[in-house]
Amino acid sequence: MKVIEHLERADRPLISFELIPPLRGGNIKGLLALIEDLVAFEPPFIDITSHAAQVVYEETDQGIERRVKRKRPGTLGVCALIQNKYDIDAVPHVLCTGFTREETEDFLIELRYLGIDNVLAIRGDESTYEKPLTLGRSANRYARDLVGQIRDMNQGRYIERGLLDAEPSNFCIGVSGYPEKHFEAPNLKTDIRHAREKVEAGGEYIVTQMFFDNRHYFRYVELCRAEGIEVPIIPGLKVLTNAAQLRSISRTFHCEIPADLSEAVESDPEHALDIGVEWTRRQVEELLDHGVPSVHFYVMQSAEAVGRVLAGLT
Ligand code: FAD
Repeated sequence: MKVIEHLERADRPLISFELIPPLRGGNIKGLLALIEDLVAFEPPFIDITSHAAQVVYEETDQGIERRVKRKRPGTLGVCALIQNKYDIDAVPHVLCTGFTREETEDFLIELRYLGIDNVLAIRGDESTYEKPLTLGRSANRYARDLVGQIRDMNQGRYIERGLLDAEPSNFCIGVSGYPEKHFEAPNLKTDIRHAREKVEAGGEYIVTQMFFDNRHYFRYVELCRAEGIEVPIIPGLKVLTNAAQLRSISRTFHCEIPADLSEAVESDPEHALDIGVEWTRRQVEELLDHGVPSVHFYVMQSAEAVGRVLAGLT
């Protein structure tokens, strides 16, 4: 079933999760154990992130060597497992960065054959030290362009023109949103205008970047509605589990950690997990009180923190 259908048919707010595939050479058993733990919460869908191949410069005896590597392959395989072994709808993330439009089309065809009809269309990032493969004009530039490609395929328009009996796909397309603005955008208003373009191109719902202060989400929804964005906006949450994340989360995801939360963790780092769980539990309660359609959790290695948040809801 499509994410949008899950949302429309739900008689209570839904809980969904986002997982990352193991590192190259890693063991799938850990991820499977995590999924088994999460299944208990009856998620209607689970997202699996995608990771672009990157150009990495490594120092060797012969000098600096340039290598291309994808750190976390396996999105397709994990999605097939989730969908077919656990009977939960899988939502693979599809990226612009590092993929030609042809590779994207091939990936979408694989998804269709596996019976996966949900995707989250994402641009991907360029990190400073490990530059993703640039594929020039043959890659989609912005998520909006990727959404356009998927929508074209939904209308039976493949890259190769004039295919006989080209079957339309039927993907439900999600896109991202940033309550505290995307770090490259000059301001929130401009960023929301770009989010509207993604929705106009065919995005059917928005999942937000994580935030730790619900006021950012409420304001974002208000501004999106004023901009004419009518689709569901699913809040994305992460439970802070250790003191090091006070810096790594703000550095990586460009979101603010409220002073009350950071001071509580800094003064009692041993209990960072307890503090993080209680913080997110209060966030979820307030979001549910405001009638959010669904809550999406960014889960890393363990279901423990999210499990404790959900168990603690009144
Ligand atoms: P876009 O929507 O394309 O926007 C990127 C920037 O360009 C924004 O600043 C926007 O305002 C601007 N922009 C958009 N359109 C235009 C235009 N026409 N002209 C000028 N500027 C424009 N990363 C991964 O590598 N793998 C993942 O699986 C992954 N999953 C994610 C899931 C979610 C829910 C979120 C919120 C992020 C995820 N990311 C993932 C991170 C994402 O790749 C980065 O945040 C990336 O920098 C932006 O991706 P986007 O799809 O939001 O980009």
